[in-house]
Amino acid sequence: MGQCLFCQIVEKKIPARTVHEDEWSLAFDDINPQAPVHTLVIPKRHVATLQDCGDEDRLLLGHLLQTCAKVAKLKGLAESGYRVVTNTGADGGQTVFHLHLHVLGGRHLNWPPG
Ligand code: AMP
Ligand code: ZN
Repeated sequence: MGQCLFCQIVEKKIPARTVHEDEWSLAFDDINPQAPVHTLVIPKRHVATLQDCGDEDRLLLGHLLQTCAKVAKLKGLAESGYRVVTNTGADGGQTVFHLHLHVLGGRHLNWPPG
């Protein structure tokens, strides 16, 4: 996946502000933040969308969610609350086709989203 933007961030070919890194995942701040805290959590292995995950990805998906909670704590959101979003496909508004979970917080987030 040489051309994938987020694979290149995993490979450190493109710089990012890393928040957390472990064997399976990388978390880094979004380049165009939509809230005071806006961090992306991605699998190191290329998976295009949530829809491309299979039974073999169960542990990975659980790990990514736990990593979001870890990031929220690191960013001081554990008490105030936050939102985890995975935009999927065209109607979901996905623009980067490497699975990522947005962790948003630091202000009140409206619901439903527009
Ligand atoms: P989505 O629209 O859900 O696919 O989200 C893609 C996100 O990636 C957007 O919030 C972008 O601002 C963010 N993004 C794009 N390029 C970079 C980059 N080089 N570093 C960090 N975040 C990025
Ligand atoms: Zn990728």
